[in-house]
Amino acid sequence: MGAERDKSTDAIPIHEENPKIGKPAKTAAGLKGVTAGLGHVNKYMRLSSAAKVLQRLNQKGGIDCPGCAWPDPDDDRSRLGEYCENGLKAIAEEASKKGIGGAFFARHSVSELAQLSDFELGKQGRILEPLILLPGESHYQPIGWDQAFKKVAQELTGLKSPHEAVFYTSGRTSNEAAFLYQLFVRQYGTNNLPDCSNMCHESSGQGLSQTLGIGKGSVTLEDLHEAEVIMVMGQNPGTNHPRMLTALEKCKKNGGKIITVNPLPETGLLSFTHPQKVSSMLTGGTSLTDLFLQIQINGDVALLKAIMLLLLKYDKEQGGIVDREFIEQKTEGFEAFKADLEQHSLEERIAETGLPRSQVEAAASLIARHKKIIICWAMGLTQHVNGVDNVREIVNLLLLRGAIGKPGAGTCPVRGHSNVQGDRTMGIWEAPKEAFLNRLEEVFDFSPPREHGFAVVDAIEAMHKGAAKVFLAMGGNFLSATPDTAVTAKALKRCQLTVHVSTKLNRSHLVHGETALILPCLGRTEVDNQTGGRQFVTVENSMGVVHSSEGVLDPCSPHLLSEPAIIGGLAEAVLGEKTTVPWTSLVGNYDEIRDLIEQVIPGFEDYNTRVRNPAGFYLPNGARSGHFTTDNGRAKFSINELPQEVLPSDHFWMMTIRSHDQYNTTIYGMDDRYRGIQGGRRVVLLNQDDMKARNWVAGQTVNLISTYDGHKREALQFKLVPFSIPRKCIATYFPEANVLVPRDLYARGSKTPASKKVAVAIVPVD
Ligand code: SF4
Repeated sequence: MGAERDKSTDAIPIHEENPKIGKPAKTAAGLKGVTAGLGHVNKYMRLSSAAKVLQRLNQKGGIDCPGCAWPDPDDDRSRLGEYCENGLKAIAEEASKKGIGGAFFARHSVSELAQLSDFELGKQGRILEPLILLPGESHYQPIGWDQAFKKVAQELTGLKSPHEAVFYTSGRTSNEAAFLYQLFVRQYGTNNLPDCSNMCHESSGQGLSQTLGIGKGSVTLEDLHEAEVIMVMGQNPGTNHPRMLTALEKCKKNGGKIITVNPLPETGLLSFTHPQKVSSMLTGGTSLTDLFLQIQINGDVALLKAIMLLLLKYDKEQGGIVDREFIEQKTEGFEAFKADLEQHSLEERIAETGLPRSQVEAAASLIARHKKIIICWAMGLTQHVNGVDNVREIVNLLLLRGAIGKPGAGTCPVRGHSNVQGDRTMGIWEAPKEAFLNRLEEVFDFSPPREHGFAVVDAIEAMHKGAAKVFLAMGGNFLSATPDTAVTAKALKRCQLTVHVSTKLNRSHLVHGETALILPCLGRTEVDNQTGGRQFVTVENSMGVVHSSEGVLDPCSPHLLSEPAIIGGLAEAVLGEKTTVPWTSLVGNYDEIRDLIEQVIPGFEDYNTRVRNPAGFYLPNGARSGHFTTDNGRAKFSINELPQEVLPSDHFWMMTIRSHDQYNTTIYGMDDRYRGIQGGRRVVLLNQDDMKARNWVAGQTVNLISTYDGHKREALQFKLVPFSIPRKCIATYFPEANVLVPRDLYARGSKTPASKKVAVAIVPVD
């Protein structure tokens, strides 16, 4: 094990890479997708386990895929499998046949393991027993569960204030675990509950709540099939939500049109070959995108304003484009919005998009001719300083056309991790609503803290300054998921105690506090037996459907606990006599947890009965039915600023992206098949003309430097890859490029890191 260290942070090793650069794939999924997914299953899982899991994956009453939050069909599901290539990779990762326990950690020191790449770390296998790293020691060693809980209790109860502790959650955590976790944390005395949502769709939650009264999307899967126009903005579903392509294909087959808005021409959006249809494979797949708008990074507000200016113009010319009846009956703020919009020059807005006028007119014309319009989006819209404005501008466009609260129309923020939406519903939030806290107070007879806690960027700052001293993570890989890696690493290292509830090894276990604990938990695929018998958990998908997930495999070790059992153990040890919650009883039977959720959270009436319906149930969603749950029952037009960023001379706008062999911070492999890149991750995708202008060549090694706010951040040893991307824009993979993303560069109103637009200089090193 040996690697150069990134000079900006000793947290990330740099390995020599010589990626092969080929042509991007012409179509997504298909036979290659099946082969790639099954290849992972074959390599990393026992075949007997694979057979059991795949039969039940995403089936009604089966195992919820631990990958993304894309919904499953309400009606019949394919017997051939309701999963995608990346779902198979996620399963192969979780149900790995390899395992690591005390003997492994006795052989390998923390500093030795820290030299492995993220890919290599994940491939070591499942963690088999609780582990502790004592102060000054070089190796993790086994610890009993009771001692581990006592250690956490000793540190937490020794803090001057509960606000000196941070309790992070990743989006895999089930509803039951999330509800218990927030209850434990609030009984302990703080709202310091940052989560991965802070880093992805917080901007969506804020923008949608302000305008429509609910921070979730309004559409169902059926709506996508029925839509006449779907606009997909800042999203790469081929890699990040692969089964969304099936829904887009259905929309196309029903005569729908798809407009794609993205700086990169992602293969998955251009063409899709259905992996279960021979006809699709023979014909080379379905062309999905009708109109591709290759926009400048963060040109979306300008584009939306330009489209809306054109809609107003068409309305003046021919009438019937602005839905005045809907606006009159259901909305407010239209006149002020219109007056502001009309102050803008169409020509200037179009120039800011980097698109030809004809393309913007083509998009406006499609939207003007149809009423059933859905806009889907992801991180390309939310991870900007103006991320909340982007979302509110999307709402403006839909309201203008009356395209919300009707079948086939509405908002579709596509969520990442499988239960990220459910965790927020369960109260994992640093800024809880008063009504939620009041219900906790009534049901559990205690006074929950009212002061808002730390979001992710605040938590990094607090740990960095020494104001937070204990960090506990329910899943995830905080170091790799967050911005400003060097600072985040220092922040974690300054803690007295870092604790990770995890299934597998990741970099956050190796950049640790004075004492560190790894508490290994059951995976989704594993049987969860408690005193009350075999348990299932529940999750909420991206479209607000709550359903069950029950594992089928024997746990990979007898020393694992479920997430609810770990939380129960921690709560009893930390809270002792003070608690008003019967933790042991709840952990014994998750029905009892669901009964309590039902008492606290609206929409979960008769939870235990309804969730036993194999397809689950829909949570209430006013925007879906056109009954907006804002303060006055009206949807709100909003006025949004244009981005004001100025690119320093000889810099590029960098956006971070995922490779196709990656899900969030989990690196499944070293290839990016759809983009034609093999065997490397430290790459910079940039426009060929920008390369020519500087005499740069493909494969050249460069360093990336950001000097935001006068502070120099460096990411070293990247290779140049010519790619179809607008001039002056570049794309790099995270987590490798996170070191360049300043922690204080985040969205107004949501604090979502602006990872999609960071000014960086490219400096050749050879
Ligand atoms: S689309 Fe998402 S949830 Fe479905 S199988 Fe693929 S990764 Fe899993």
